[in-house]
Amino acid sequence: MPELGSIAGKTILVTGGSSGLGLHFAQTLSRNGAEVILAARRLDAVKDAAEQLRAEGGKATAVRMDVTNPDSVAEALEGLTLDGLVNNAGVTTTTPAMDISAEDFGSVIDTNLKGVFTVAQAAARNMKGRGGSIVNIASILGLRVAGALSAYAASKAGVVQLTKALALEWARYDIRVNALCPGYIETPLNRDFFATPAGEALVRRIPQRKLGQLSDLDGPLLLLLSDASRYMTGSVIAVDGGHLVSS
Ligand code: NDP
Repeated sequence: MPELGSIAGKTILVTGGSSGLGLHFAQTLSRNGAEVILAARRLDAVKDAAEQLRAEGGKATAVRMDVTNPDSVAEALEGLTLDGLVNNAGVTTTTPAMDISAEDFGSVIDTNLKGVFTVAQAAARNMKGRGGSIVNIASILGLRVAGALSAYAASKAGVVQLTKALALEWARYDIRVNALCPGYIETPLNRDFFATPAGEALVRRIPQRKLGQLSDLDGPLLLLLSDASRYMTGSVIAVDGGHLVSS
């Protein structure tokens, strides 16, 4: 019997595997025995990451994928037999709602919401008949708003509701669909901001009084991709140090 919570031997696609959370997720999954396919537009970056994981003894490959292009998504999945998907690719903009162009607003929605749907649909078609687990990476900003992030917040709120809708439709195929909502996670890109007075004030409003680390997402991610969560679908899990429950 495999250990409860194990993902060993599962084949899992990670979108946005070229940097940030996606790269970290791919490393975590590979180090826990999964075969990982890293996907992103920058093929060189995912190829390098996959090579590093293979050098550590993992099973990893890289594919080029633009989640806004259904043909690119279908091509990337050709020949794969998936057990899991981490639907992570995403973009943001901090242009105020008064100034943002329709084009820029649309491009955030195209990647974060339509892209998540396109990849989920392709993965579900691939999993049909065997079952599988899809984890959509939303954000606590899909559940509460902050800053000048109207397009981002709307896209992530869409991902939360989409997760529930897909869970409802695909439960009959034994395809589970859940969402992870990270709070403020420290990455090289935002470290400087969180060292400013505004950033420090934000951290003081988190009940646990600290930023999340990438590794804080590992437990919930492994749970959702493993059979330990076999009776969970349509769940939305915040990993945010209690941020959502604070006023
Ligand atoms: P990064 O900017 O570091 O990474 C984004 C990833 O998405 C890159 O790998 C990029 O690869 C990929 N990507 C962007 N557009 C496309 C596209 N059209 N097709 C395919 N891949 C694409 O961001 P983060 O790691 O910070 O964020 C990852 C996810 O986590 C996002 O969905 C984000 O909203 C979410 N999140 C992040 C939080 C944080 O604190 N960082 C908090 C809450 C949620 P490439 O450019 O090579 O295509």
